[in-house]
Amino acid sequence: MSNYNGVIDELIKGEWTNPEDQKKYGIPIKKIEIRKTLDGLEKDLIKSLHSDQRLLIVSDPFTHNAMGSRIFKNIKGKVNVDEYIWENPSSSIEGVEHLREKIKDYDGMIAVGSGTVSDSIKYATFLEKKTYSVFATTPMNAYTTGTASISFNGVKKSLVAHYAQGVFFDLEVLSNCPKRLTAAAFADVICRTTAQVDWLMSNKLLETDYQSTPYSLLALYEGDMIQNASSIAQGDINSLALLTRISAIMGLGTSFTQTTHVGSMGEHGISHYIDMFAKDLHPGTSHGEQVGIATISISKFQNAILNKDTPPIISPTKIPEEEIVNKLGEQMLVNIKKNMKPKLFDQKKTDLINNFFEKKWIEFVQPLREKMLDYNIIWNAMGKCGALRTPEDAKLDSIFYKDALRYARFIRDRYTILDLAGDSNQLEELINV
Ligand SMILES: [Zn+2]
Repeated sequence: MSNYNGVIDELIKGEWTNPEDQKKYGIPIKKIEIRKTLDGLEKDLIKSLHSDQRLLIVSDPFTHNAMGSRIFKNIKGKVNVDEYIWENPSSSIEGVEHLREKIKDYDGMIAVGSGTVSDSIKYATFLEKKTYSVFATTPMNAYTTGTASISFNGVKKSLVAHYAQGVFFDLEVLSNCPKRLTAAAFADVICRTTAQVDWLMSNKLLETDYQSTPYSLLALYEGDMIQNASSIAQGDINSLALLTRISAIMGLGTSFTQTTHVGSMGEHGISHYIDMFAKDLHPGTSHGEQVGIATISISKFQNAILNKDTPPIISPTKIPEEEIVNKLGEQMLVNIKKNMKPKLFDQKKTDLINNFFEKKWIEFVQPLREKMLDYNIIWNAMGKCGALRTPEDAKLDSIFYKDALRYARFIRDRYTILDLAGDSNQLEELINV
């Protein structure tokens, strides 16, 4: 089999029907190709989306080696294109400004791989109102999202940008990428389970929005991907295709929901906390690696609380103001008070929820249990895929990590299992198991 697109082909044509609502769905990216190899197909892929354009193909020294030099060799003379190897790529606003200068004489850019090159080009072409396509060198969600992760004075921000015209995955190239990156990509999609349970729980308790479309798509392949965790780690093409397809769908999730909640709840809050506050204790782990470790913690908490047949009893939400000022500073407390507003339960809301739990706990947890993977399944699959699973694996200070579990709920307005655990006085016990 050479075309591994699966359901993505139907999405590109706008013809995929979600079994949950019988509606047809499409995506904003014109072409996605997941193939064993793209060697020799580059010219046609680029021409079909960038006809008559003058293009600049951009790689860094690593991605140039992995794929960029081959692409340029295959398209030179056939496409109106120049090559630029970005020696010191940086997904900072300075890096973006550098690319904006470079693109002045061109109509569009072709990015070759890596989050850094791809996100900087996504944002630079967005600001310059020009188009781009990307050849991926790793399996990762970011290629198919419309947002770019760009840092300002060292602080990463997720910015609204635009979608690529085309996203192309050459599985033979992907199978040669560092194993650590494959494992991180696996971790950043297996978090579907914890994110979905948190988001659905928030919908049920706070009547926040919830949409199932991306989950219907992910459910097509998640079981197979978990089954094949070890062969993904070994770089097997068929298994890598599963991970790549799921990563692409996860990235597209936001295009259906207009919100990142679909793949970013409690587990992502913990990863953000690590990036915001670890400072010198930050072990240099990537987003996906941190999300993986946090997914394991969140899964443990969800399984412990939601598998019980008796409901927890909650109390009105308390923000530990003094601890937060001591650990995170005055300004952070101001932000936290703002973030917590939509999920700060007063006595009245607390009584309502306790009453609801007492009468309808099983009805409440049943649909959540259906979406929740068993903790051991996640733990084992992550192990087989070679992902980091504990703060010790990541060489992350375990006392700091406990703080991340304790305080991450306060830094975002999304209601997660950390809030339910905190309000029902179970968080400390769960953290210290
Ligand atoms: Zn993520």
